[in-house]
Amino acid sequence: MPPRHHQPEALLASLSTERGRSDRLTHTEQLPAREARYAPWPEGIRQEVVAAAAELGVLLPWAHQAEAMDLAAAGRTTVIATGTASGKSLGYLAPVLSELLTGTEARNGRGATALYLAPTKALAADQRRRAAELVPDRVRVALYDGDTPPQEREWVRQYASYVLTNPDMLHRGILPAHPRWSSFLKALKYVVIDECHTYRGVFGSHVAQVLRRLRRLCARYGASPTFLLASATTAEPAVTAQRLTGLPATAVTEDCSPRGPLVFALWEPPLTENVGEHGAPVRRSATAEAGYLLTDLVHDGTRTVVFVRSRRAAELVALQAQEQLGHPLAARVAAYRGGYLAEERRALERDLHTGRLLGLASTSALELGVDVSGLDAVLLAGYPGTRASLWQQAGRAGREGQGALAVLIARDDPLDTYLVHHPDALFATPVEATVLDPDNPHVLAPHLCAAAAELPLTDADLELFGPSSEPLLPVLERRGLLRRRSDGSWYWTRRERAVDGVDLRGSGGSPVQIVEADTGRLLGTVDAEAAHTTVHTGAVHLHQGRTYLVREFDLESSVALVSPANPPYTTSARDVTSISILSTDTTEEWGEAQLSFGSVEVVNQVVGYLRKRISTGEILGESKLDLPPRTLRTRAVWWSVTEDQLLDATIPFDQLPGAAHAAEHASIGLLPLFATCDRWDIGGVSVPLHPDTGLPTVFVYDGHSGGAGFAERGFHRAVVWLTATRDAIAACECDRGCPSCVQSPKCGNGNEPLDKAAAIRLLTTLLAHAPNRPDPADAPDAVGSPGASGTSGASDAPDAPDAPDAPDEGSTGPADGAADDATGDAAG
Ligand SMILES: [Zn+2]
Ligand SMILES: [Zn+2]
Repeated sequence: MPPRHHQPEALLASLSTERGRSDRLTHTEQLPAREARYAPWPEGIRQEVVAAAAELGVLLPWAHQAEAMDLAAAGRTTVIATGTASGKSLGYLAPVLSELLTGTEARNGRGATALYLAPTKALAADQRRRAAELVPDRVRVALYDGDTPPQEREWVRQYASYVLTNPDMLHRGILPAHPRWSSFLKALKYVVIDECHTYRGVFGSHVAQVLRRLRRLCARYGASPTFLLASATTAEPAVTAQRLTGLPATAVTEDCSPRGPLVFALWEPPLTENVGEHGAPVRRSATAEAGYLLTDLVHDGTRTVVFVRSRRAAELVALQAQEQLGHPLAARVAAYRGGYLAEERRALERDLHTGRLLGLASTSALELGVDVSGLDAVLLAGYPGTRASLWQQAGRAGREGQGALAVLIARDDPLDTYLVHHPDALFATPVEATVLDPDNPHVLAPHLCAAAAELPLTDADLELFGPSSEPLLPVLERRGLLRRRSDGSWYWTRRERAVDGVDLRGSGGSPVQIVEADTGRLLGTVDAEAAHTTVHTGAVHLHQGRTYLVREFDLESSVALVSPANPPYTTSARDVTSISILSTDTTEEWGEAQLSFGSVEVVNQVVGYLRKRISTGEILGESKLDLPPRTLRTRAVWWSVTEDQLLDATIPFDQLPGAAHAAEHASIGLLPLFATCDRWDIGGVSVPLHPDTGLPTVFVYDGHSGGAGFAERGFHRAVVWLTATRDAIAACECDRGCPSCVQSPKCGNGNEPLDKAAAIRLLTTLLAHAPNRPDPADAPDAVGSPGASGTSGASDAPDAPDAPDAPDEGSTGPADGAADDATGDAAG
């Protein structure tokens, strides 16, 4: 019998009622256990693989694994989208390794090859280990990434039959050098794309084009590999797999692995004595609350992982629990974040497994890098951004035949607050689809160049690269990048490598290097797009749990010089933004109100920054900055109401800026619930009188050139999105606006003006005649009409991209709001 407290109900009672915290529990969901369902090994799976699986304790595959193996053997593009610990690896490895084994019997010993793509180097390294457990030595498995020594690379190209790499290396290293890979590509039977839900937004769109380049080269070498994808549970996995690969795909979604019962609790931290901006009430942070709960769980001997959203938070939670536990239990708590070595991760896995380690605070790096399951409890300090991640993290809890507890601890922001008070949005709503838009011309253009450099592009290739490619080619010719020869093919004309102009994970220029001023040590980089708001002179920069001050941001050389420091404040950039409509694709009439989707130009200039006290957010001072404006052409969703509607809603003109700004903030906060994006993917501008519309207008735009598909998703789901926005504001118990509803931690305008009550009336008016309809699927792009010139307004620039575990607390962000009448926030 497990100790009493390991029963999930008892665990939860011990955290809440027994410790006087019942009021923090907003909902408890009971998820029943699931029985395992097995199937026989499919015919094509080789005996060696079956025997190796038996060694590892797998006598029969689960039914979903067998289904995937059958589809793979039949050459069908297949995506396995099932839960954590459901054995997706075996589902694709068994057919792949069987084929490779058969290939070893060919005369050259390499009659079949396979390529494995992981989003991170660490994951590829893990997979190499896993593949090695399942196959005899004669299948030659090799990593090929930036760390592979030059002398090994030639061996990999000539002899390896299972090559594990990442999309960046495929893009930069393998495809441009395809003649040296010709024997590998000729024999290519399978391409495995692991964790494919991570290929979303602009990154996903880039990867989709890299895969099209791979398919084109394979075809030239006479190969037609089968694509096998593994995904977290997402909506419409087959649609995503098709967008990613360009091939019709079949999804395996019925999870037949066993699961113990799970108790899932929603938890809201208490209000504190502290007062935030404009006197707003402030709740205890999710990370501090997680530190208390972790302390109690470890004290009771419960194996627990806390998922947090930043490296700094991982360290803070572990430190807090260690201090509260004291000797000797403190030694059984650790932090984990990205950047650990494989051996360190193996040690953590082992220690959690054996119970030597009882508590671990981790960033989502753990989600991808470390194989832990079978925990008694999982705490999520803040909503991880998608329901797919939520279930992936919560899925770490529970051993076969034994119950487990998951707790989502709300952060003090509109989205988390909404979720812990609307459990249906988590438990009665399917997980979201992965959003990507490979047709984005900003993404496509450099890949057409890269493809032309690999092999001249012919008309026959254009179908592969999608409908946007044909009109783009003459544009690239005018820019002097491509030239059309008399045979009709397009050639790359430059000396430099075409692939060097494309960074799959960022866009808009070379990244800014962060250099320690005294030592010259390179600490890391930030995306060019985010640099103005995050590493401007005077910014507080966090790196691996240490705090630095930016001494100088050198735009010319793309370097930020920093020194270690310990200021009692964080910084928050203020910016001025104007937005103009370039073209409108679609407009819907909601009575007098209008909802539109189209192309916009956003001009943003960081003009200064605020220093805010760490504990309370109190503003300590403001400094000016002299940085040039930057222009972003992207896609946006926007809505406007008429003067009559404002009259009906009793919103006088002096309340309008605060109403629109507050509605904009909250809608940016809630969009991730509907569009699978993070705050940093999107920005917003609210304008009381926009010259292009002649009306009060609120814009929400994609923070990447050419758009990423998020604003489009917002347009198609506008009714539910804006209804949730209004409900979130209305339900908040504060009087005049707080971080849980309309305040934004990254507001470029210092959260001024904000009018919570008027925002509710404004959104109610907007929604009064909204169509009552189910969410339509994505509509194809329509052709828009040219729009008018720009105007300035309040804006919320997109946040600085956090890599899987960048800092989220105390990082700086762009500001919004240009003219006196406009306000905005930046994400960051
Ligand atoms: Zn509030
Ligand atoms: Zn704002």
